[in-house]
Amino acid sequence: MIKQTVSSPNTKYIFVTGGVTSSLGKGIISASLAKLLQARGYSVTIQKLDPYINVDPGTLNPYEHGECYVTVDGAETDLDLGHYERFLGIQTTQANNVTTGKIYQTVITKERKGDYLGKTVQVIPHITDEIKRRIKLLGSKHKYDVVITEIGGTVGDIESLPYIEAVRQLKWELGPTNALVIHLTLVPYLAASGELKTKPTQHSVKELLENGIQPDILVLRTERELTTELRKKVALFCNVELEAVVQSIDVSTIYEVPLMMQKQNLDLTVLKKLALKEGHELDLTPWIEFLKKLKNPKTCVRVALVGKYVELQDSYKSILESFIHAGAMNDCKVAVNCIHSERITENTIDELLGDMQGILVAPGFGDRGIEGKILSVKYAREKNIPFFGVCLGMQCAVIEFARNVLGFADAHSTEMVRATEHPVIDLMESQKGVTEKGGTMRLGVYHCVLKRGSKAQKAYGTSEIMERHRHRFEFNNEYLKDFEKAGMVAVGINPDSNLVEIVEIPSHKWFIGVQFHPEYQSTVLRPHPLFVDFIRAVLENSK
Ligand code: GLN
Repeated sequence: MIKQTVSSPNTKYIFVTGGVTSSLGKGIISASLAKLLQARGYSVTIQKLDPYINVDPGTLNPYEHGECYVTVDGAETDLDLGHYERFLGIQTTQANNVTTGKIYQTVITKERKGDYLGKTVQVIPHITDEIKRRIKLLGSKHKYDVVITEIGGTVGDIESLPYIEAVRQLKWELGPTNALVIHLTLVPYLAASGELKTKPTQHSVKELLENGIQPDILVLRTERELTTELRKKVALFCNVELEAVVQSIDVSTIYEVPLMMQKQNLDLTVLKKLALKEGHELDLTPWIEFLKKLKNPKTCVRVALVGKYVELQDSYKSILESFIHAGAMNDCKVAVNCIHSERITENTIDELLGDMQGILVAPGFGDRGIEGKILSVKYAREKNIPFFGVCLGMQCAVIEFARNVLGFADAHSTEMVRATEHPVIDLMESQKGVTEKGGTMRLGVYHCVLKRGSKAQKAYGTSEIMERHRHRFEFNNEYLKDFEKAGMVAVGINPDSNLVEIVEIPSHKWFIGVQFHPEYQSTVLRPHPLFVDFIRAVLENSK
């Protein structure tokens, strides 16, 4: 637990904006700064404002926006919230991710109720007021010392404008030591002239100024070391103090960024500007220990991640990060081979999986690539290769077992084949009347009781767990007896609904399928026990 010795009488707000291009890593900078403030004893949370019109990213294809991250209270959110949780070890909620869709939905619902008393409803003030309310909600409700709000998109985008205006107003209302703006930009290196260029940064700051915001701190993304000269130039032209021009140079792992920020005193600069005490000596010992392990692996293992969104690494962000955490814990590097399930057939499987020491079948939706996933399960089961099935991956394990062990050749999930004779995975009763797609799955945290002596129970070291869900389909309990007789056991059960949450094949080296998403709960300082145990088994298998 974080020692909490300092606190602020009123919540302070930090806004993080981005300029020049997207994908500069605002989420990582926000999480890193939060980490440093947390390590100084402050309670911090981070919020992401996304300018798109979807009410949440739950309905987005992973190719569009990467993984959809799920919070304990069942919000389907931006993957940056995953970074916040992994860095800080805190739990985020519905309030931590706001989209333009949510803002408008609230305002329009109020308008229909007649709450605006005959007034014309406009972007300013009604939309901006709702944005401000959502920002301040975290400060008022949960009593954080500092709330960091990351504004998605890039300054200058049409859809970001109301957010920038809301930030301008809040900064003015809250006063100079209660709010500050950190602007993240890019300093490109031009190989032809051998120079780093500050002009895009200057332009991007001008853009912010045009919108009435003077940034207090600039974080410059760069591939090369910035000289003091260059930082001075940026400080002068962008009207910020020299110590407030911070470089964010490319590093080998995102987990190094907090230390890199600390070296440049970003935390102290922020505290000074917010008139907050320095707090206690920064203690990042466990974090540094983790980094040491991460950077000095004793061995390397090869794990296959079988999924269908593998072209975009962000689609499986939390799983990939969980492997990083679990690898460090086991002093080994986990080389993850993302394999497209559509490529896996009887003919290619040996070539694609033959070299793997562990196989994870990923979550997913729909029937594209499903047979490749089922074949991968069969391969792992028959060859006694450690297997981890996550959500759809667990459902594939159940289908495979039904087909090849129980002999139900047509066994399937009713998600893929509605009229299958053997619906071993089926829609929950409560899902049958659901017609709307957004926010209607089984979402958020649920209890699960583990069977004593099972591998899962040993890995967790406890008999009761809470895990996060995001799915519509479930193990069909009508078949449970058949499965257990044949050697696949339900070792995790939801005590309220009796739903099967974990299956295991006890006679196998390590074969576990989970209906939930353990990857959402793995953090740097508390790697997920199932990932840790899976990698342990993979390591053993590789010896
Ligand atoms: N498509 C499956 C379901 O809805 C699995 C979902 C998932 O893997 N997250 O039940």
